[in-house]
Amino acid sequence: MPAPITQDLLTIPRKLPEGGPINLVGLTRAQLRDTLVAAGTPEKQAKMRVGQVWQWIYEKGVRSFDEMTNLAKPYRALLSERFVIELPEVVTRQVSSDGTRKYLVRIAGGHEVETVYIPEEGRGTLCISSQVGCTLTCSFCHTGTQKLVRNLTAGEIIGQVMLARDDLGEWPEPGRNPKDESRLLSNIVLMGMGEPLYNFEAVRDAMKIAMDPEGISLSRRRITLSTSGVVPEIARTAEEIGCLLAVSFHATTDDVRDRLVPINRKWNIADLLDALRAYPKLSNSERITFEYVMLRDVNDSDDDARRLIKLIEGIPAKINLIPFNPWPGAPYERSSNNRIRAFADIIYKAGYASPIRTPRGEDIMAACGQLKSATERARKSRAQIAAEAGM
Ligand code: SAH
Ligand code: SF4
Repeated sequence: MPAPITQDLLTIPRKLPEGGPINLVGLTRAQLRDTLVAAGTPEKQAKMRVGQVWQWIYEKGVRSFDEMTNLAKPYRALLSERFVIELPEVVTRQVSSDGTRKYLVRIAGGHEVETVYIPEEGRGTLCISSQVGCTLTCSFCHTGTQKLVRNLTAGEIIGQVMLARDDLGEWPEPGRNPKDESRLLSNIVLMGMGEPLYNFEAVRDAMKIAMDPEGISLSRRRITLSTSGVVPEIARTAEEIGCLLAVSFHATTDDVRDRLVPINRKWNIADLLDALRAYPKLSNSERITFEYVMLRDVNDSDDDARRLIKLIEGIPAKINLIPFNPWPGAPYERSSNNRIRAFADIIYKAGYASPIRTPRGEDIMAACGQLKSATERARKSRAQIAAEAGM
């Protein structure tokens, strides 16, 4: 007889309604092991069973235990009784004229987040969300106007990668090498809704699953985490995830950054730069991406460009200029193309790569900073925005 499922398992993300079977998607290898053992898997077999189940779920994309043909039938039946392999539900899928796909994804509790797939020459990038809404209130960001509703679980984060692979038809067929560099989904960016470093553990666990060589198997250099500047978590990101880092820099004086990225009032530019200086060594990665949103007459002068170069001196960096993407009621305008080019030129001449990010999927509101689930009505009040900005 299998041992009864213990109370401890209640902390593991599982299927609603309460008391239903446990969802295996998003468990770390260690959690999966404990879960299988608690359901009656003999300790001695646990490692092997974890390996088998893991490969079925993450390498082959299987969703039913019946298909796990290297497991004995009674064991498959036991697993089906106790567990499910479930992804968040895709509510709508929109395809832009440029091929960008935006998924509105429903997670437990009826909340919704957005996931965006961006096909490019030679690669395909999936932009995933880590929170429903955001606690922060960056004044140029649409997500920032929406209250934080909750953190996503690791299963909901890796689930976005899996549902995109479903939609792209990209689970390996027998004989096809999953490490093939011509994959449709070859890169992940944590640049959707939410601040990933305020949901550290779930983001870490999900990215570990994405990198696991016996599963989705993406290289850590193909994963980029973008933070607004949660300084105390930056070293941990290097040590525990080891992915590439992007930082939403956006301003060259504390005055302006305080207004654009209010977390700057807690950890200012100097604090942030200290943490960034240490990152490449800690994570053994090459360059940090500095994201810089181009806002007309706010942060886009030649002086800003020169100050930026001075500030980042000594940090291996690439500067990604993002033309501001408007949203209804936004208090900013996009800098002119000439201004963006002049800014890029100054940076380029100082020896930094300075690509200008082409807005993608604008016609379906899928571009950077435009995400905000249409059905999530929880708005921040003016008072709350002011209070949070004061921090
Ligand atoms: N919370 C994280 C990741 C999500 S935002 C962060 O702030 O870094 C991903 C990127 O889009 C960030 O660089 C963010 O500053 C930028 N962004 C937000 N709103 C934008 C907008 N309206 N136009 C262009 N970029 C925007
Ligand atoms: Fe949150 Fe990032 Fe938007 Fe700022 S830019 S409000 S941190 S999602």
